[in-house]
This record gives sequence, structure tokens and C-alpha cells, in this order.
Amino acid sequence: MQRVLARGEIESLDHTSIPRLRLPVRAAVFSDRAARLRQLAQDSPLSGYLSLMAGLADAQHQGLKGCKPPGATDERIDLAQAHGMPPLQAVGWQRDAAWRGLLAALLEHMGGLSSLPPQAAQAVHDLQRRLHDAPGAVEAQADAILAELEEEVDAAAAPFIMAALQVYWTSLACDFTESALPVVTPHGVCPLCGSLPVASVVRVGGQADACRYLCCSLCAAEWHLVRVTCSHCENTKEVSYHAIEDGPEGIKAESCDACHTYRKIFYQEKVLGVDAVADDLASLTLDMLMGEAGYARASGNPLLWQHTQVEP
Ligand SMILES: [Zn+2]
Ligand SMILES: [Zn+2]
Repeated sequence: MQRVLARGEIESLDHTSIPRLRLPVRAAVFSDRAARLRQLAQDSPLSGYLSLMAGLADAQHQGLKGCKPPGATDERIDLAQAHGMPPLQAVGWQRDAAWRGLLAALLEHMGGLSSLPPQAAQAVHDLQRRLHDAPGAVEAQADAILAELEEEVDAAAAPFIMAALQVYWTSLACDFTESALPVVTPHGVCPLCGSLPVASVVRVGGQADACRYLCCSLCAAEWHLVRVTCSHCENTKEVSYHAIEDGPEGIKAESCDACHTYRKIFYQEKVLGVDAVADDLASLTLDMLMGEAGYARASGNPLLWQHTQVEP
């Protein structure tokens, strides 16, 4: 006899069959994002901006090819397992200075784009000079960005610095051995690097089919979270879903009336090539709608540090 199970029931049946983590794939993570950004740019009022971000993702793809920073030591893994902490914790991590080489290459790529608007060209130029004259100041900016100290972050330079840090941590995540992950890590942050998620995606295919994954804003790892659960405070009773009337398919805002925040949730069954970072950038209208409804974003987009300045 067969019984039809609701989605929540399926997910709670056997947790061991649902992959807990989805690690990024070195060859595809940034090239897929670039392709998705270009697709989104075709039909968007933010076309120029999204194309520019596609150029940035191209540079990240190039950077990731040759990026092999040292991973977590055995002691660090042991410590993380003993305390249930993310083993690649970004805040406080001793970055190899090679990350600044990644940033320099990325800036050179961006500086060479013919479509670069004057404001962005100025930001690239300024950052190139700072990288040369005052690398310590760039390191301090990187620390502020990773710790999400918004008041200390230079919004014009941040997307480029973050892009280089993403390449660095995505490389660490690509090479991470999943068995080294602690059994339990804190709710609401990436189990690998401890950063906040940018959004979530309900995946299709294989064992992850119909399961929801939170997408890390830094290392591009994804981790499973049962659906209809607030990704911020874990509440399951006061969660609701909002979409734009006649808006694009496959995108909603998952809000919580316990903590009054929201994050976007994308449905891969509607858009196969969905990318949390790209699709989040392309859907600022939904953010405005949620702001008007009285909800705050639970976390920002890693490539955009000017949410408060976005005009309706
Ligand atoms: Zn992460
Ligand atoms: Zn909540």
C-alpha cells in the first residue's frame, strides 16, 4: 500500500539520505554564475550592472583555476570537531597573502573591460593604488567585510575585495573533505566557513530533490535546512511566503513573524540554472516589497553593500 507523503514528512523520514552539504565545483561555480548573470541581464532594468557583475564572475572563474591556498590544519579540524564550530571559519582565519594577488588579477581584468562605467573604473583604480601603497589597509577592509562590520566597509571597494575573498574560500570549500565536518554546527551560518547565507534554493535531482539548501555568501557551499523553517531564528510556526504578482517564476521571499526578517528562496524546478548570488542581485524589486511590508533582510548580498541607498 502506498501513502503520499507531504514534503516536510519526506525530509524528516531519513536525514541520512539527504546530503547535508553541497560543495562547490571548481570548474563550474563562477562560470555558471557568469552565465546566469548574463541571462538575467538580457531582460532587466539593471542590465548594465548585472553585465558588470558577470565580468567579475568571469575574473573569479579565472582566479579559481590557479588558486590553492593552504586548508585547515589537523589541529584546526580537531578543535572545530570538539566544539562544533565551522572548520574554515572566515573571521580570524590566517589568510595567505596570495589572496591579494587574486585581488590584483581581478582588478586588472575589470580595468580592461571596455564597458566599465566611469564610477566603477575609478573604484578599480583607487583600489589598485591602495593595494600597492597600503596593503595593510586592504587587509583591514577584508577583515571588516568578513566580520560584516558595515560601518567600516568601503562600499565602492567591497564588491571587488569580497570577490577575491570568495575565490579564496571557494577554493578551500572545493578541496574540503566532507568527513572532516563536525556533526553539529551552529544554526544560521555556513557549517564550513561560518558566513551568513545569501539566500536558499530548493534543488531538483538526485537525493537533494525537493530539498532546500542555504547558499553561503562566501565559500559557495550549500547546506540543508528543512523547508518552512526560518533560516535566521529557526522558527517553524510563523513562516510565510511572498511573491511579486505577475513577477518572475520560481522566486519567493520566506519571511518570519517571530524575528521579522526574510531571505529569498529560489526554486530550481522553475529555473534550472538559478544562482543564489546572481538571482538575488537581479530581484531587488522583491526587497523593496518586503521592506514596505515591514521585514528586514536577514543578510545582504556579498557583492552589494549599499542596500540602504537603493532608490525605489
Ligand atoms: Zn561558507
Ligand atoms: Zn525568524
